[in-house]
Amino acid sequence: MSEYGVCTKCGLTVFAIQEVCPSCGARTAPEPDSSMIEEWHEKREGVCCDCMAKGRVRRLVKAKGYNALTKIPEFRCLTCSEKKLAEIRARGVPV
Ligand SMILES: [Zn+2]
Ligand SMILES: [Zn+2]
Repeated sequence: MSEYGVCTKCGLTVFAIQEVCPSCGARTAPEPDSSMIEEWHEKREGVCCDCMAKGRVRRLVKAKGYNALTKIPEFRCLTCSEKKLAEIRARGVPV
């Protein structure tokens, strides 16, 4: 467990105990170390690109053998994100 985290919005490094970024107020996430390569972007207020539901949405940015950093951001609600995860797993990506 890393003692540092990182702001999901501005990328600021914060202490792991800080759940909110002192700079921009966005949520923070544990700092990805070499063993934790999965990376998610999450928005508190967003629109799911699949079912158009409003609310908390997220997208997978990085996982072993998967990199969506260059793709157009597609945020999905938890339900659709799980479906998408199943698709990605079917392609052989261990997420
Ligand atoms: Zn921030
Ligand atoms: Zn959805």
